Amino acid sequence: MYVIWNLTNACPWSCSFCCMSARNEDGQVPVKNLDFSQKIKILKILQKREVEIDFSGGDPLANKEDFSLIEIATGMMRRKLLCVSTTGGNLSEAKLKLLKKVGKVEVSIDGLPGENNPFRPPNFSAAAIELLLALVKEEIPCSAVTTLYPVSADQGSLERLYYFLCANHVPQWDILRFYPVGRGLSLPNLRLTEEKLLRLMDFFDAIQGETKIVFQHSLQVLRGEYQCHAARESIGILPSGVVTACGWALDQNSTPLSGFRLGYLPEDSFDDILKRARGELGFGERKNYCRVLAHLNNR
Ligand code: SF4
Repeated sequence: MYVIWNLTNACPWSCSFCCMSARNEDGQVPVKNLDFSQKIKILKILQKREVEIDFSGGDPLANKEDFSLIEIATGMMRRKLLCVSTTGGNLSEAKLKLLKKVGKVEVSIDGLPGENNPFRPPNFSAAAIELLLALVKEEIPCSAVTTLYPVSADQGSLERLYYFLCANHVPQWDILRFYPVGRGLSLPNLRLTEEKLLRLMDFFDAIQGETKIVFQHSLQVLRGEYQCHAARESIGILPSGVVTACGWALDQNSTPLSGFRLGYLPEDSFDDILKRARGELGFGERKNYCRVLAHLNNR
């Protein structure tokens, strides 16, 4: 089981299409977030079941409390079970010291600095590169993560980014499709057609270099090579403690889209949440399509 745990909506960047509607400051979200003791309880629940945790956000390193929580997790769980998905900026010795203790660090970057991208703030790419280079230097397992939407999907830009990653020995490049969820619900035009995505996947297959290219599972679903694993292999936990069957099934307020809410941690039993999800809530079977996109298409 793999859990995407969005610890916070706080993020220094506030990208205009953020799937988590993340913002610069805490406290602007209309839902109450978990306090530290509740997060520790959830951590113990996840530790007991030996699930893999992807600490995400917002930026899970944006505030001291979440930083401490991840530090505590590294003392409780095996390193390979812990991943941190973060952004560049505010690089410090303390941050690198913490990241040395997790199994993998994923860093968002959609293009090289100087590429005109209105959906990412100035310096976003430069800060991401600074972090990636520091991770490589410290031999911390890491990947660059690129989301595909019309601005980022230019093949020339993608090739330039890829060869930069190869030249700087970034071990992995994760390719994600854009989901028009969260703040992106108001930007459906950023969604690429399936035909375009399939062509891009062929393009990625054809380029070669040191950096390994990995497609997000939902792209593999598109190719018919994988099936939706919502609530079977993966769930999402939101800053409020609400559990969602898929980490991408989010509305503008960072609450689950209709039909995806499974329960609430730490109050509900984790096992009961999964049992109910796979029973009466209809997530018992894998599907050969992405449930989030099917939901959005039927709205
Ligand atoms: S709903 Fe889509 S994104 Fe979520 S687990 Fe299924 S295939 Fe993946």
